[in-house]
Amino acid sequence: MASPSLVWFRDDLRLADNPALHAAAERDEPLVAVFALDEESEGMRLLGGAARWWLHHSLHSLREGLRERGVALVLRRGPAGRVIEELAHEVGAGAVYWNRRYGAPARAVDAGLKSSLRAAGMEVSSFAASLLREPWTVTTGSGTHYSVFTPFWRACLSLPAPRSPLTEPRTLAGTTAVPASDALDDWALLPTAPDWAGGLRETWEPGEPAARRRLQEFLAEDLPSYDRARDEPAAGATSLLSPRLRWGELSPFTVWHEAVGVDGAGGFLSELGWREFAWHTLFHSPDLATKNLRPEFDAFPWPPLDPAHLDAWQHGETGVPLVDAGMRELWHTGYMHNRVRMVTASFLIKNLLIDWRLGEEWFWDTLVDADEANNPFNWQWVAGSGADAAPYFRVFNPELQAKKFDPQNLYVSRWAGDAPTEPIVDLAATRKAALAAYDEVKRAP
Ligand code: FAD
Repeated sequence: MASPSLVWFRDDLRLADNPALHAAAERDEPLVAVFALDEESEGMRLLGGAARWWLHHSLHSLREGLRERGVALVLRRGPAGRVIEELAHEVGAGAVYWNRRYGAPARAVDAGLKSSLRAAGMEVSSFAASLLREPWTVTTGSGTHYSVFTPFWRACLSLPAPRSPLTEPRTLAGTTAVPASDALDDWALLPTAPDWAGGLRETWEPGEPAARRRLQEFLAEDLPSYDRARDEPAAGATSLLSPRLRWGELSPFTVWHEAVGVDGAGGFLSELGWREFAWHTLFHSPDLATKNLRPEFDAFPWPPLDPAHLDAWQHGETGVPLVDAGMRELWHTGYMHNRVRMVTASFLIKNLLIDWRLGEEWFWDTLVDADEANNPFNWQWVAGSGADAAPYFRVFNPELQAKKFDPQNLYVSRWAGDAPTEPIVDLAATRKAALAAYDEVKRAP
């Protein structure tokens, strides 16, 4: 009697360097692959609109890749603990494999499932696949976790090199009876009325094959100029790998090993380090999206929300050219260049005096790379309330930033046009008001 292996795909929508899939292939029993759309487990953050769009297409691509190898991808919807347990029993699984997740609600689901499946006599194994370092393995001399990036990254670099990527299993065997699956279209992950995803379709090709092509293209064409040009939003000098890493179409181990030998790759690799650090921080501070990491910021006197200001920011109508260009790039493509993310975030928090959490939520909804750790981590970094954050009093001046990083106005004119505009707030006066509000944080006990 066959005792199938169940592989549960989550944030790892790939065949290459996928330890859970690899383990199942080695086990040499028929394989059942499943993805569960979990919108019900306690505390799980619901995906934003742009993320749902990406997920739809990435699942489609994964399903094709598995089908070519003789395995069907089963789609089920519901609280993952229940859905996976039911499926494991339904197929008579002998083993269940997945790659680890690090957010607290997901870990609670996984731990519960691990014990119930084991109690039912199944083998259950989880693997390290999404981070170069397991968050509990990087500790300071006194055994605590790091709250400053540079020593964190130095400690990571002093550890043995990240493991080599695993090859993609060449042959896989599906089960003869394929369990029932939802239809991907029935999940309605794509927007319909209205269909706002035209710009996303123009910009991106989700899925593992396109992710691998983009990595190769980046290494050959852009990595050599990365350090020099990465801060210029019009230069197209960065990797655009963030949604691919977010959805696990590429593993960080693959990216690491492909880039590490290349001359001048250190700056790029340290950005992967920031991703590690953000996840390390989320692992140790699960409320990162809602709670100031530095509690003295709880005393920040946010004024009552002006909804017209929030709306103008969201839709790129603040009259500040670089801010509007960034917000329109985001709305159109589901992506914004890192330098401009910092400028738009600073403008929301420090010129409009709007709570960083509202900005974080908007990015969460509109970014194709919306990431449970990277997004709140970076918002708190800009707000000054986070781990190793920019000091609050450092207020980005969007006009100077544009002069410095977009000197030929290429980025701004592409996204916001050339017509002169009037800012909705006075930059100098609002900066002063923000610094005065910050004094209350400094006075907090
Ligand atoms: P590259 O410069 O090519 O960097 C390579 C990879 O390193 C990225 O793909 C990403 O995985 C990682 N990385 C780079 N910069 C950072 C960083 N500052 N923090 C953590 N990881 C980093 N990144 C996300 O992936 N998801 C988010 O939701 C997200 N929200 C952000 C919100 C704000 C307010 C800010 C300021 C930054 C945010 N970032 C986020 C970080 C960064 O802007 C993006 O990762 C980067 O712009 C993606 O483009 P790239 O892949 O071309 O980056």
